[in-house]
Amino acid sequence: MASKRDYYEVLGVNKNATDDELKKAYRKLAKQYHPDANPNNKQEAEAKFKEVNEAYETLSDPQKRRMYDQFGPDGPQGFGGGGPFGGQGGYYSYNGSGFDGFGDFGDLGDIFSSFFTGGFGRQSGRTKQAGPRKGANLNLHMDITFEEAYLGVDKEIIITRNETCSHCKGTGAKPGTSPMKCPSCQGTGQIRQVQNTILGQVQTTRTCPECHGTGEIIKEPCDICKGKGTVRKQPKIKVHIPAGIDDDQTVALRGEGDPGEKGGPNGDLYITVKIKRHSVYTRKGNNVLCEIPITITQAALGAELEIPMVDGSKEKYRIPEGTQTGTKFTIRNRGFKSVNSSIQGDFVFTVIVQTPKKLTKEQRDILVQLAKTMNEQPPVKKRGLFG
Ligand SMILES: [Zn+2]
Ligand SMILES: [Zn+2]
Repeated sequence: MASKRDYYEVLGVNKNATDDELKKAYRKLAKQYHPDANPNNKQEAEAKFKEVNEAYETLSDPQKRRMYDQFGPDGPQGFGGGGPFGGQGGYYSYNGSGFDGFGDFGDLGDIFSSFFTGGFGRQSGRTKQAGPRKGANLNLHMDITFEEAYLGVDKEIIITRNETCSHCKGTGAKPGTSPMKCPSCQGTGQIRQVQNTILGQVQTTRTCPECHGTGEIIKEPCDICKGKGTVRKQPKIKVHIPAGIDDDQTVALRGEGDPGEKGGPNGDLYITVKIKRHSVYTRKGNNVLCEIPITITQAALGAELEIPMVDGSKEKYRIPEGTQTGTKFTIRNRGFKSVNSSIQGDFVFTVIVQTPKKLTKEQRDILVQLAKTMNEQPPVKKRGLFG
């Protein structure tokens, strides 16, 4: 995993590439490296082809692309497991839903469909397949407070997902019976056909209509799951939100999605964090910003302020004599921790001088005296606007 090339580099596009640009680049490279089009160096072409497919599979899926941009190919560190991209065993999975159909490939469409089902590939498109298949990924949002984002938090949430039916152990068949091999496709889930294309004769396959691609026929379905092999459950899941997480960032919990089929791995659970607005603090990058009101005397004479930090502690800070309203001061390393490095942001506060609105007679007299020493006109007694 570590020596992987950058997916954008693999496809030869820049980081801001649109979906169209990605698709174009992918098509060009897929044609170029298709093993059938490279009979003299099949192995190298196949390796390139896999790489191109893997890159496209990730970048064409907005969720995966965001994760990739955020965490790189090895996934988030310290989130448990190897991150969302680990464990593919070096081969890509072709996901029919992330792709607008092979129609655009023209004649190559047939070659591709045969290629993906035979050879080294594994099809995990919309239709059910006879082989192992990864379970569906689940996506959800979680609201957390500003303080929780700052400190990190462990939460328990209830999610709804499919789980393997314990009554039939996921086979879908009534206990004591077992699913039988589909006679139409001999359990492969595919009906094979030979077609002529521009690159010669190729074998294509289509999903078996008898078993809908599962390769099995269930004669007596399980009473609990009605033959599906899964049941809806609402388990409690523990989620660790790391300190420093930002709005719209995602935590991946591997294997907490829907169950895989036929021994395939479970899907993943992606939790995208929404941080509630705070009445005092705002965030900019990893810095915490806030405004601190001070009096005119604190501004003029200087003062030691007690600044409230996000974690609830106070930090003493001495502002100098003659501080102007709007001046920014920085307390180093009291901002947000970075999720994927040891860097910590700063706490930046802006002082706002509050002009007093109500004065006692004594205070007013003092200010009048002050004004005289500054060669100002003493304030005239207020009159109505029209005399
Ligand atoms: Zn069952
Ligand atoms: Zn069949």
